[in-house]
Amino acid sequence: MKPVQDLRVAWKFVRGHPTILFSMALVVIVPLILVLNTWWTIRLFQRVLDTQIQRQAMLVHDTLSLAIRGNLHDTANLTSYVLDIEETIGENVADYTLLQPDEGERTFVPVAGFSKERRVDEVFSSTQYAIAWAQDQAIATVVKDSLTGGRLLIVTKPIIDTNGDRWGLANVSLSLAPHDQLVQQAVNRSNAVMAVGVVIVLLLIANHVRMFEYAVRVQRLQEAEQLKDDFISVASHELRTPITGIQSFLSMVDEGSFGVLNEEGRSYIKQAMTSTTQLTNLVEDMLDVSRIEQGKMAFNPRIIDPGESIQRVMDELQYKAKEKGLSLELKQEINDISMRVDPHHFRRILVNLIGNAVKYTSKGTVTVYVRAADKKRVSIHIRDTGIGIPPDKIETLFKKFSRVHSEDSAKVQGTGLGLWITKALVENMGGRIYVSSIQGQGSEFTVMFDRIEKQPVAAQKT
Ligand code: ADP
Repeated sequence: MKPVQDLRVAWKFVRGHPTILFSMALVVIVPLILVLNTWWTIRLFQRVLDTQIQRQAMLVHDTLSLAIRGNLHDTANLTSYVLDIEETIGENVADYTLLQPDEGERTFVPVAGFSKERRVDEVFSSTQYAIAWAQDQAIATVVKDSLTGGRLLIVTKPIIDTNGDRWGLANVSLSLAPHDQLVQQAVNRSNAVMAVGVVIVLLLIANHVRMFEYAVRVQRLQEAEQLKDDFISVASHELRTPITGIQSFLSMVDEGSFGVLNEEGRSYIKQAMTSTTQLTNLVEDMLDVSRIEQGKMAFNPRIIDPGESIQRVMDELQYKAKEKGLSLELKQEINDISMRVDPHHFRRILVNLIGNAVKYTSKGTVTVYVRAADKKRVSIHIRDTGIGIPPDKIETLFKKFSRVHSEDSAKVQGTGLGLWITKALVENMGGRIYVSSIQGQGSEFTVMFDRIEKQPVAAQKT
């Protein structure tokens, strides 16, 4: 039962992925085409050689017949005439025999001839003689030489004497060994080329199947990625409502709506509120990641003055900086500059970067510079005197959930998503972001956007 089930599963998989069927068909068809092509070429080659050798046999016939024509009736010396011309005959003429019919014209008696190996009439039946005589035409047959194992072409042709009468038959036997050797060489060479061809095709197909496997893996990865995105999106949405509920109940308890709490109770509620705020931040960050990844984040660019937006964010963060004893400063080195960005997302970028600078700095200053990077670009630098970032972490800093784990950062809460979101927002608005840092001394995050020339205000008509 199991093999049948396995076969069914395999068949279902193959049907679901027609590329496999295509590869399997190629495995059969391509080598078959190569084999058929080789076979057909060799056959053609053999046929051409056969025609050539038959022509040669007829030529030998005609030449010898012409040479001995005048001496046919001088039976006593006929053999010596024939032997005289043996010298001039090609090497592959194995036998030349002159035959005459007996009285009843049934059997043929050898009268003269030469044989390099043996008398042809020893290996060949007299049927061919009878047919050639009866039909008065040349008859050719290929036989296997029982001695050498090679092939012989035997051509029998009637001989006409000088009076125009049929004198008898001439039988030429040509060895096909050289021609067979040639064919064998061609077969060997073609087979070798075919074998290499088949191996190459099989390798290509194996590669094709491997690439198909990669495609399936990529497809599965994409599906898993989609599933993860959907899960994050749904989970974040579903978490928002209960967290808001928890937050409002905690505030009510903290404000004493259900009676006055003692010190210990108040401190627990404070901890619970801090944890809920972290949870809210995580959910908000996850929702943003999901929106950006699915291309659902809306961007509504407007022309803004970056200095004003930065000042507002710094005012909001001033309280936190003061709490830590940090000085937070804005140094605007150029005025009257504009950029085209989505103000909401630009604010988010600033909150993340200036917020991080405050978070990861325990003493000193956080300074924001606004400069003209060049004629066409504005650069915003967020410089702090904080814990800095180890060199080996800089490369992965903008990846999702990337956090530096050190003694200094252990107490600082975070999701590790802020910089990923910041980078995505900057790049989606046509900007660039860089970081440089010296561990233990501070960091500097730089954001660059195209500068927009301020349009002169048109004179208003009164
Ligand atoms: P998080 O919510 O953890 O702050 P981010 O994506 O904003 O997540 O930052 C990722 C990590 O980069 C942080 O956990 C911190 O280790 C490091 N980092 C970011 N900004 C600074 C900075 N100004 N100084 C030192 N480390 C920083």
